Amino acid sequence: MRIIVIGASHAGIAFVDAMRRKGFAGGLCLVDRQPGQPLERPPLSKAFLAGDGGDGSRFALRKPDWFAAHDIQLIDNCRITAIDAAGREIETGTGERMGYDRLVLATGATPRRLPAAEGMDGVFELRHPDDALRLRSAAGKAASVIVIGGGYIGLEVAATLAKSGKAVTVIEAAPRLLARVASPPISNFFADLHSEAGTGVITSAGVEDVSAAKGCFSHVRLSDGRQLAADMLVVGIGVLPEISLAESAGIETGNGILVGPDMQTSLPDIYAIGDGALVRDNAYGIRIESVHNAQDSAERAAAAINGHAPPADQAPWFWSEQFGLRLQSTGIVPADGASHHRRPGKREGGFSIWSYRADRLCAVEAVGDPAGYMLGKSCLEKELSPSPQLVCDPAFDLKAFVAAK
Ligand code: NAP
Repeated sequence: MRIIVIGASHAGIAFVDAMRRKGFAGGLCLVDRQPGQPLERPPLSKAFLAGDGGDGSRFALRKPDWFAAHDIQLIDNCRITAIDAAGREIETGTGERMGYDRLVLATGATPRRLPAAEGMDGVFELRHPDDALRLRSAAGKAASVIVIGGGYIGLEVAATLAKSGKAVTVIEAAPRLLARVASPPISNFFADLHSEAGTGVITSAGVEDVSAAKGCFSHVRLSDGRQLAADMLVVGIGVLPEISLAESAGIETGNGILVGPDMQTSLPDIYAIGDGALVRDNAYGIRIESVHNAQDSAERAAAAINGHAPPADQAPWFWSEQFGLRLQSTGIVPADGASHHRRPGKREGGFSIWSYRADRLCAVEAVGDPAGYMLGKSCLEKELSPSPQLVCDPAFDLKAFVAAK
C-alpha cells in the first residue's frame, strides 16, 4: 500500500511517524511546497525570531537522516495542484502525477491577509520558517514595530521584539487581547505584562488604512482617527484553513476539511489532519489549531488506516511563552457565558484560572504553575468539576481530590 501525505509540518510528520511506530511497512511519501527540512513552528515567534535559531536546523522537526532511516520519502519544494480522487492520483504544479492508495491532507492553514497592506515592503506575516527569516532580518534594522492582532502570534512576536529593545505597539480589534482563545483574567494579565514592558496595547481598534512611503510601510490609521508610525508592520490576524485542494476534488468542506472522528473525509481513502481539518459535530464546535491537535489527529488517522486502536481522548492543550513566562492552557474557554476563578499556584507569582459554564469545568489556564495545569487537565479528562469555592481555596488539596476519583 502507498500512502501520500500532502504537508510535511507537525501533523504530516506525526502521521508518518505513527505509521512506522505501529509497524506499517508500506510506502510513505511526504510532499511539501516549502523548500528544505521541515522545522518546528512554535519557536518561530520566540527563540528563532530572537536570533537564537541560526539557520533553523536546531528546530528541525526530525533530523535530516530520520526520513531515510524510516524509509519515508520526503519531497520538498513541490506544490500539489490537483487531486484525482477517482483515479487515485495527485498532480504537481509541473504536471507530474503520483498514484496513491490512501491520501492524507495535512495542508494546514494560511494567514489571513490585511488587504490594505498587500504588496507593501516592510509588512510581515509569520507562518513559515522563511517568513520568520524575513521578519528577523527586517527587525534587526528596525527601531519601532506595529503589530496588528493580539492573538498568540501577535503577542509572542511583540514580546520577542520588545525584549530586543524595539518600541512595539499592538493593535487588537477585539475589546481584549487573546479574546478568541483565553479567559478575560488571562487577557488582562498579558495586557499588563506587555504594558509593563513598555509596549503600547490598543484594543477595540479597527485599522482604517495602512499607508506607505515610496512603497514601504509608514503608518496605520485607526478607526478613531489616530495615526501611528513605525519602521515595520507585523500582521497576525488569524488563519484560514487550506481547503481549496480538497474542495476542488469534491471533498466536503466548511470552516475546514470536514472529517469524521477517524479523520476520514467525505471521500473514501482520503483523510485530513491538523489545523485544516474540522471534525464534524465535535465536542467543542470549532476547528482546533494547535500542535497537540496536529499530533492527536495524526495518531487517529494512522490508527484508522493501519487498523490499530486510536489514542485515548485527551483534553486539548496549548502553550505560549512571553517575557519568560509560560502560559499552559487546557480545555476550550467558552466564548461567552462562563465564570472564571483564580487559584494561587505553589510557585511565587504562579496561578491558574478555572473557567466554568454553569457548574461544569471547561478550561484551566495556568501561568508559571505547571502543577495547576496538570491538575486542571486531569480534572477535565476525568470529567471532574470541583466547585469554584474549593478551587479558589489554596488550602484545598486538589491533588488528593483528583487522585481519589
Ligand atoms: P488568532 O489567535 O486568531 O489571533 C488573531 C487576533 O487578531 C484575533 O484576536 C483577531 O480578532 C484579531 N484581528 C483580526 N483582524 C484584525 C484587524 N484587522 N485588526 C486588529 N486585530 C485583528 O491568530 P494568530 O495570533 O494570528 O495565530 C495564528 C495561528 O497560529 C493560530 O492558529 C494560533 O493558535 C497559532 N499560534 C499558536 C501559538 C501557541 O499556541 N502558542 C503561537 C503562535 C501561533 P477576531 O478573532 O475578532 O478576528
